[in-house]
Amino acid sequence: AAALRPNLRGLSRRHYHQPTPAMLNALVGPPPTPEAAAPPAGALTGWTIGLKSNIASTRLPTTCGSRALQAYSSPTDSTVWRRLHLAGATLVGATNMDEFGMGSHTRDSLHGRTMNPWDAGRSAGGSSGGAAAAVARGVCRVALGSDTGGSVRLPAAWCGVVGFKPSYGQLSRRGLVAYGSSLDAVGLLARTAADIRTAYLHLAHPDTHDMTCMTAETRLRIAHLRQRLREQRQGPTEPLLPLAHVRVGVPAECWVHELSSGCLMAWRQACAALRALGCTVERVSLGHLDAALPAYYTVALAEAASNMARFDGARYGTHAMEGLRGARSRLLGAEVQRRVLLGSYVMGHQARQSFLAPAQRIRRLVQRDFDRVFALPNALHAGAAGRAVEEEGEGRVDVLLMPTAVGSAPLVSEEAAEEGRCRAAGYVTDVMTVPANLAGIPAVSVPCGSDRGLPLGMQLMAQYGDDHRLLDVAEHLQ
Ligand code: GLN
Repeated sequence: AAALRPNLRGLSRRHYHQPTPAMLNALVGPPPTPEAAAPPAGALTGWTIGLKSNIASTRLPTTCGSRALQAYSSPTDSTVWRRLHLAGATLVGATNMDEFGMGSHTRDSLHGRTMNPWDAGRSAGGSSGGAAAAVARGVCRVALGSDTGGSVRLPAAWCGVVGFKPSYGQLSRRGLVAYGSSLDAVGLLARTAADIRTAYLHLAHPDTHDMTCMTAETRLRIAHLRQRLREQRQGPTEPLLPLAHVRVGVPAECWVHELSSGCLMAWRQACAALRALGCTVERVSLGHLDAALPAYYTVALAEAASNMARFDGARYGTHAMEGLRGARSRLLGAEVQRRVLLGSYVMGHQARQSFLAPAQRIRRLVQRDFDRVFALPNALHAGAAGRAVEEEGEGRVDVLLMPTAVGSAPLVSEEAAEEGRCRAAGYVTDVMTVPANLAGIPAVSVPCGSDRGLPLGMQLMAQYGDDHRLLDVAEHLQ
């Protein structure tokens, strides 16, 4: 696994003097207001935390990278930040993002673009690009981001750090400004999977303030299902290799011709590294993966249009005085407006039948594909506990391995030219990441190898609720 790490030393020598952390534009806005009382001492004392600008804290403006919320400060803390604070963590600042999380390059922000720390002319990925760049440059030890369709994993891959999207509902969304409510998850970024696990353990708890947060009963049910699977597999002797018993699936559908040769090589090396750790690696099929991207953009935009209705110029920020007419046209960026229009359209009576309903059907098919390949039953399905673990066998795996993106960070100029020719080109970047959000399953991007001096990320996915197992494998692969 050590051979898979990006050659950070070579990279940092080349780019050491530029851009500086300040030039990166990873942390944005004013520093946090000082705490009223001394911070509590706890397990995370001394840990520095960056908060994406769409995660509320009373000590930072929650701008969401938008002019509409330029002066907005939340009256309450998000549950995730409150939990880290209670464990003794230190807040270092707000990290940059695409406006309301809608983008893949951290380019469409009130605060301007975030640079990729390995090459200033390249995309940092998005929408949590500020979080990834801040972690890569050591500005904070852990950053909290949000992942609706890959916004934690893509920037993590392109900036050479670990990015983890937990199962839907594993972490509370209270205080996370909603983009696509059924897809949104708070995610974590850090240099190591071990740091992510430590911070994650403080966060993964039920929250009565968020009705979509996983209940204690569901958590228990998942633990039971996992225990049954473990017992079923236990051999008479202790295995010698750390990941013996772990079955890895490689989805054939991710083998697309757009994959860069460097990425393909890193994928092969990751398979070999997992085998060396004791895993079995087999090919699996996810038949509806190619339909996931259009389905995601239909569902996400419909939900975004509903969620954005609250930014009418009256309720948030200081713009109420400017008058409400046309507030959204003046205060929201072009991409957000485009998505609100498209989202409203697909919810209309006619278009609902032709676009939204099929997208929701595809979403269910994608979920079913995942349930079919994972050995662990999906705890949300009635009768999951009864599904015979006996059913497992050929073709049932614990984790899936695939690239996070088809290549390394693109040049910002090339990306803009591409989008100028075809707007949808910008959306294709998310093709490998959106399936996990549609299915609500956990996924993590781990730095694996490099392509012409730029870091690459490999993505691991697991069954809904199997977050611990996923982090285990990620920790060993790193
Ligand atoms: N790039 C995707 C989008 O724009 C994902 C964004 C996200 O995960 N917040 O919708």
